[in-house]
Amino acid sequence: MTISLITTLLEKIAPIILQEDYDNVGLITGNKNWECKGVLVSLDITEDILEEAIQENCNLIIAHHPIVFKGIKKFSGNSYVERVVIKAIKNDIAIYACHTNLDNMITGVNSKIADQLGLLNRSILQPKNDLLEKLQLFSPKSHVEAIEKSLFEAGAGEIGNYSECDFVSEGIGSFKPGPGANPYLGEMGIRHKENENKIEVIYPKWRRNYVIQAMKSAHPYEEVAYEITSLSNVYQDVGAGIIGELPVAVHAEVFLKLLSESFHQQCIKHTSFTGRPIKKVAVCGGAGSFLTKLAIAAGADIYVTSDVKYHEFFDADGKIILADIGHFESEQYTIDLIYDVLRQNFPTFAVLKTKVISNPVHYFVNSY
Ligand SMILES: [Zn+2]
Repeated sequence: MTISLITTLLEKIAPIILQEDYDNVGLITGNKNWECKGVLVSLDITEDILEEAIQENCNLIIAHHPIVFKGIKKFSGNSYVERVVIKAIKNDIAIYACHTNLDNMITGVNSKIADQLGLLNRSILQPKNDLLEKLQLFSPKSHVEAIEKSLFEAGAGEIGNYSECDFVSEGIGSFKPGPGANPYLGEMGIRHKENENKIEVIYPKWRRNYVIQAMKSAHPYEEVAYEITSLSNVYQDVGAGIIGELPVAVHAEVFLKLLSESFHQQCIKHTSFTGRPIKKVAVCGGAGSFLTKLAIAAGADIYVTSDVKYHEFFDADGKIILADIGHFESEQYTIDLIYDVLRQNFPTFAVLKTKVISNPVHYFVNSY
């Protein structure tokens, strides 16, 4: 099995196009055509994790955080980043990062946080736009159903909790086959009119190639007439943060206890209680204080995230409880997410979760 087979699968659940501008996802060292011996999944890449991969005979490490974010100009081993990159290259270890592209999926990093808390009725807190396209194509009536089926299988026609959505209208198409043509209908050199249907369907733009291929494979015409339009609609399944609801409202203290236990975090930093019970919960793994105002606007009773700075806690403003559970803690279940996807698709292949706890933050709990 090649590395590209694994990365192609990962890019289905976390398309590269969804990474933020500052990010550096994808293959950082190694080559996609290498034979993959085994995969180690981690949140970070430290020298210990790299050593673990070597010992376990894994030549691909899939990490949430990219080891290289910005340009590196020297490789002298003066920082842990340089040492990891040097050691990975010397040992033929491929490093692949799946970061903000996984954060931005409704089935990504935040879904694991929402799972831990049992959140229902989930939606994206800050959905992205400009990610949808619409395909319009024209088909003889006889082939509409086959084309629709093929398009839906390629991932077109999904809107929120609905699938197989499209619109079909009727009209008359015309064409005149010229020299060299091999027409499915009509005769050479004569303008032909045909009762046709127009099929309109939307899809996320990263699936364009699959959708066009699906359309052409099911269409009987030699030349398919079609149009692609970019839509500025928001794509409700992609973006930052998730908001959802607890099955029953609980007191803030009960919720914090649940948080502490679910995320193995003894020390949660939080703002004062609002007096409201907790029902609506917003979450964002990693540094998420940029979403506090949106969490308030969406009516969340608490916003669970990490890396909140002192002054950012004031943004809660008595309208919401802002809870910081720690960066590593908030993203720890991302390892399971990646691991499970690989396990389900390659059940007999060597996929391991790192045993190294890479969290650089330790908590000193004074027992007085
Ligand atoms: Zn992170």
